[in-house]
Amino acid sequence: MFDSSQGYHIFYIVAAEVKIEITTLEDTHDCETCGSSWASGGIVEVDGEQILYKEPVAHCYAGESYSVTELLILTLQLLGHEVVIDVGSSNV
Ligand SMILES: [Zn+2]
Repeated sequence: MFDSSQGYHIFYIVAAEVKIEITTLEDTHDCETCGSSWASGGIVEVDGEQILYKEPVAHCYAGESYSVTELLILTLQLLGHEVVIDVGSSNV
């Protein structure tokens, strides 16, 4: 039945394993005219090394905000990956 001499062929796909660690930051800004605004940003470390620092800037106009998704995409691009985001058409 089972012939051990035949053996098995097991193929491993060896991928470089990296640890991506994202620390989120936030900033708030209060203005008597515009009310309060909020921005997010973050620090990204890859294998313990900081490769990205996006400071959140909450402001009335032209604040800077980065979502975790944006941070992750930037990180992947910095690591040499191509990230393509296709916006699908919505069902009507
Ligand atoms: Zn304002």
